[in-house]
Amino acid sequence: MDLEKKIIPDRRETETGLFESRLLNENIRRLQVIGWIGIPINLLLEGIGALQDGLHSLAEPVSLLRCLWIAATLIYIAVTGRVGADEVPGKRKRVAFTLAAMLCTLFASAITVYKVTAETATLVYIVVVLLIGAFLFVDSATFMIIVLPGLVTLYVGLFSRTIEPSRLVTVLVNITAIHFFAGMLATFNLRMKERQFESDRALLRLNNELKALSELDGLTGLPNRRKIDEIIEFWKSVYARKPDSLAVIMIDVDYFKEYNDTLGHLAGDDALKQIAAVISKCLYRDADFVGRFGGEEFMVLLPGISRLGAFTIAERIRLAVQDSRIVYDGKFAKTVTVSAGVAYSEMCSREAFDLMISLSDNALYEAKQGGRNCVIIQDMF
Ligand code: GH3
Ligand code: MG
Ligand code: MG
Repeated sequence: MDLEKKIIPDRRETETGLFESRLLNENIRRLQVIGWIGIPINLLLEGIGALQDGLHSLAEPVSLLRCLWIAATLIYIAVTGRVGADEVPGKRKRVAFTLAAMLCTLFASAITVYKVTAETATLVYIVVVLLIGAFLFVDSATFMIIVLPGLVTLYVGLFSRTIEPSRLVTVLVNITAIHFFAGMLATFNLRMKERQFESDRALLRLNNELKALSELDGLTGLPNRRKIDEIIEFWKSVYARKPDSLAVIMIDVDYFKEYNDTLGHLAGDDALKQIAAVISKCLYRDADFVGRFGGEEFMVLLPGISRLGAFTIAERIRLAVQDSRIVYDGKFAKTVTVSAGVAYSEMCSREAFDLMISLSDNALYEAKQGGRNCVIIQDMF
C-alpha cells in the first residue's frame, strides 16, 4: 500500500512531464510547418505586389514587414531545428516557439492595419489565426497569450486609422469572431490530444502489467523460467560485448519430497514462498538476480562478482534458509535446508554461458552427494 502511494504520484508526474514535452515538440514541429507554408505565400504576395505596382512597392512598409516575417520564420526554424518526439525541449526551444507564434500574428496584424482599406486586408490575419487554432495544441490561456500582441496591434492600429465606420465594425466583428473560433479549435485539439495520450498510456500500462505478470511465478512471486531465459539472453548480449566475471548459483531444497509427505503440499507451498523471500533478501546489488528455475529449484545470477563474493552469497543463502527454521519432523531432516552449486568464471564469454549453467548443476549434484545443506563451487576454465 505504501509502495503504491509512493509510486503512483511519481508515475503521474513523469507522465504529465512526458505529455507536456511531447505536446511542445509537436507544437514546435507544427509551427515549423506553418512557417514553411507562410514563406512561399509571403514571397508570392511580394511578387504579385511588384508586378502590380512596380518594383518600388518592395520599399513599402508592408513589403518590409513581409521580409522581416520571412526572416523571423527562418530564424525560428533554424533555432528549433529537428525535434524528436520524446526529446525534452530546452528553454531555448520553448521561448522560440512562443515568440515565433506571437510574431506570426503580430506581423499579420501589422500588415492588416497597413492594408486595411483593401478588400482582402484581413485575409492573411484570419488565415494565420485559424492555422494557429487548427494546428496547434494549446489551452485557451496560451492561445490568448500568443494572439494578444497581434490583437492589440490590430485594435490600436484600426482605431488610429481613418476608416469608414461600417468597414471598421465589419473588420472588428470578423476578427473577434475568428479568435473565438480559433481559440475553441485549439482547446478542442488539446483535449483530444490529452485523451489520446491518456488512453495510449493506459494501454501501455496494461501491457506492461500483463507482461510483468506473465514473467512472475504465481507461487513465489519470483521471476519464472521464461523471465530467467530472457535475463540469460540479456546477459549473453552484454557479455558478448564485454566478457566479465560471472557466478551462477543453482539452489535446490533438501529432502523436499519428505517435507511435502510429512506436512502436505500446501505447507510445502508456504515453505517455498518463505525460501524464495529469504533468498531474495540475501541479494543486494541491482544486477543480482534470482528466479524460480522450476519445482523447488532456484537460480541466482551474479554478474561481475569475485569468486569469494559468489561463495559468500551462496553460503549466506544457505545459512539464512537454515536460520529461518522452517521446522518439520522428517526422517532425514528436522528443518528445511538448501544445497547450492556455484559455477564461477573469472572471464565469462557469451559462448560459456550455457556451460556455466551445466557446471552449476554439476556443483549442485556434488553438494547433494556431499551430504546436502552445503555449498560447492566449481570453476570454469
Ligand atoms: P533432494 O534433497 O535430493 O533434492 O530431495 P528432494 O526430495 O527435494 O528431491 P525430489 O526431486 O525427489 O523432490 C522434489 C520435491 O519438490 C517433489 C515435489 O513434490 C516438490 N515440489 C516441487 N515443486 C513444488 C511446489 O510447487 N509445491 C510443493 N509443495 N512442492 C513442490
Ligand atoms: Mg530438485
Ligand atoms: Mg530437492
